[in-house]
Amino acid sequence: MKVIIHGGFFSESNTNQETKRAKQDAMAQICEAAHKYLQTHTATETAMFAVALLEDHELFNAGYGSQLQSDGKVRLSAAVMEGHTQRFAGVINLEEVKNPIHVAGKLLAVDDRVLSGEGAQKFARDHGFDSYNPVSEQRLKEYQEKRNQANRLGTVGCVALDRDGNLAAATSTGGKGFEIPCRVSDSATVAGNYADRLSAVSCTGVGEDIVSAALASRIVTRVADGQTLKQAMERSFSEMKAYDGFAGAIGITAAGEIFHMDSHPYMVWASFDINLQVFS
Ligand code: ASP
Repeated sequence: MKVIIHGGFFSESNTNQETKRAKQDAMAQICEAAHKYLQTHTATETAMFAVALLEDHELFNAGYGSQLQSDGKVRLSAAVMEGHTQRFAGVINLEEVKNPIHVAGKLLAVDDRVLSGEGAQKFARDHGFDSYNPVSEQRLKEYQEKRNQANRLGTVGCVALDRDGNLAAATSTGGKGFEIPCRVSDSATVAGNYADRLSAVSCTGVGEDIVSAALASRIVTRVADGQTLKQAMERSFSEMKAYDGFAGAIGITAAGEIFHMDSHPYMVWASFDINLQVFS
C-alpha cells in the first residue's frame, strides 16, 4: 500500500519560508492521513479522500482557495481514474461546489462521465452538493491586486496503490489563474490524470504543455510497454524539452515503484512508501 500526493509548484522567488513550511506541514499531515485511510479503503476512495483534503486547504489552488479566472469567477476542474476498471470521470469549469473531486467520483458510476459548466453544476446539485463559495479572502485580494502570477500552479493530486494491487489517480485544480473564462485545464483530461492496471499518474504545471505531451497517458503507456516508471517519466519529460514544457508528475506502479519528476524545481509533494517523505 503506497500513496503519493502533490500540491503543484511554488515559486521560490515569491514564496516566503513561512508559506513553504506551512505547505510542508500540510503535505505531511494529508499524506499521513491518506496512508492511514488506505489501510481500510480502496485506491480510488483514498485518492479522492486525499484530494478533497487538499481542496479544503486554502494554501492550494483547488477547491477552497482556488485562483480566479480573468472575469473574477472561480471555475473548478477535477478528475479521477481507476486503474483496474479504466474508468475516467471528471468535471470541467464547475462553479460553486465545495469538493469537485467528489462530483467526479459520482460520475464514475454513470455513462456520461465528463461534464462541464452548467451541466456539471446541475449534476452536482441533483446529487446533493450544496451551493458553496470557494473564493478565499487571500485569492480575492491577489485577484484585485492582479497578483495571481506569483501564486499560480498549486493544483493538487494523489496516486494510490491499495492492498488488492489496484491503482487510482485523482487531480483537482482552480486552473492557471487569470485565464480566459472557461479555458479548459489539463487536470480533467487524460493528459493530466491517467491510470491503468499497471500504473497511475497525476500531473501539475502549465496545462497547455501537459496536453501537448499527453503527459500522464504517455507515461502510463510507456510503463504498459515495459519501461520502469522512472524510465517512462524521464523519457516523457525529455520530450517536453523541445518546447520548454513546464510540468511535474507523480506516479505509482502495480509492482510498487513510486516516483515523481519535475521539469522545473519546486514541485510540492509528499509520499508514504515505507516512510513519510516530504519535499524540502
Ligand atoms: N495544470 C493546471 C492547469 O493548467 C495548473 C496547475 O497545475 O497548477 O490548469
